[in-house]
Amino acid sequence: MFNVLWLQSGGCGGCSMSLLNAESPDVMTCFKSTDINLLWHPSLSEASSDEFIALLADILNGNIHLHALCLEGSVMTGPNGTGLFHVLGGTRKPMMSWLSELAEKADYTLAIGSCAAFGGITAAGNNPSDACGLQYDNAILGGLLGAQWRSIKGFPVINVAGCPTHPDWVTNVLMQLALDDLQLSELDELNRPRAYTNQLVHHGCSRNEYYEYKASAEVLGDIGCMMEHKGCLGTQARADCNIRPWNGSGSCLKGGYPCINCTAPEFEQPRLNFTETPKIAGIPVGLPTDMPKAWFVALASLSKAATPKRIRQNATAKHIISPPGKPKDMK
Ligand code: SF4
Ligand code: SF4
Repeated sequence: MFNVLWLQSGGCGGCSMSLLNAESPDVMTCFKSTDINLLWHPSLSEASSDEFIALLADILNGNIHLHALCLEGSVMTGPNGTGLFHVLGGTRKPMMSWLSELAEKADYTLAIGSCAAFGGITAAGNNPSDACGLQYDNAILGGLLGAQWRSIKGFPVINVAGCPTHPDWVTNVLMQLALDDLQLSELDELNRPRAYTNQLVHHGCSRNEYYEYKASAEVLGDIGCMMEHKGCLGTQARADCNIRPWNGSGSCLKGGYPCINCTAPEFEQPRLNFTETPKIAGIPVGLPTDMPKAWFVALASLSKAATPKRIRQNATAKHIISPPGKPKDMK
């Protein structure tokens, strides 16, 4: 039996909504197949407030072993570091204090979503609630638990970042932990599972042919690549969204929206708005990962010069207006 406790703090509940859309397998099958016991979840559990508080006491006094503590939503440390912006109902104790104590009892602690990992949307702007992540404050190590903190099993907070997280990113990592099958080396430099961050969102995007020729969308709804004008960060965003579809077939890109790199710290504060590419002297500021600027500029001008008419016409259309021609050797 692998006991999981799921708590929520400064967030929207979207990661729970996303989890319920897990399809391969669905969330209950996933939990059953690996003997995961969901001790409590704010939306899914029937326990009364008294029963829930008794459960927390049982975990803290060692009567119930906690294998995984999951937090969805940011940690709200305001005002003035008291955490009183979020007091756990019926306990008079700030949620941030519960989290610190429970994390000491759990084999693993997981930040579910970018709010719990880095602060996310809740920490945007002037951050009036002093929101932060469990072990990061935006891109800076620290957060609630501190840079050096490690769980009983020697892991940092496992950041299942995303806004929301893909349901499979959560079920996969919980199943791996339940099977004692996750190594430290399988976390990336931001402690996110490499199972999904070893890919770029750009991989598998249906607009790749347009990207190759820098045949760009000019307005939302155009089918060209959205990197040059519409703010797409898919060439930098670490996630497998176009390889592991959402809800059976979707992704932000397939829905006609640019990738905003929601698995990274500070995604919530783009330089311009989300659908506008910041540029200096006409060159996008955020260039593809691993590509020197000079190469990009040279390749972009070459490929623009070589863009086939079909691709140039389709890039700024709402649907294919110029289909591929017949193969050259066909009579
Ligand atoms: S729209 Fe974004 S993810 Fe798709 S090909 Fe262009 S840069 Fe890559
Ligand atoms: S495509 Fe980008 S913005 Fe959309 S869910 Fe994936 S990482 Fe987040």
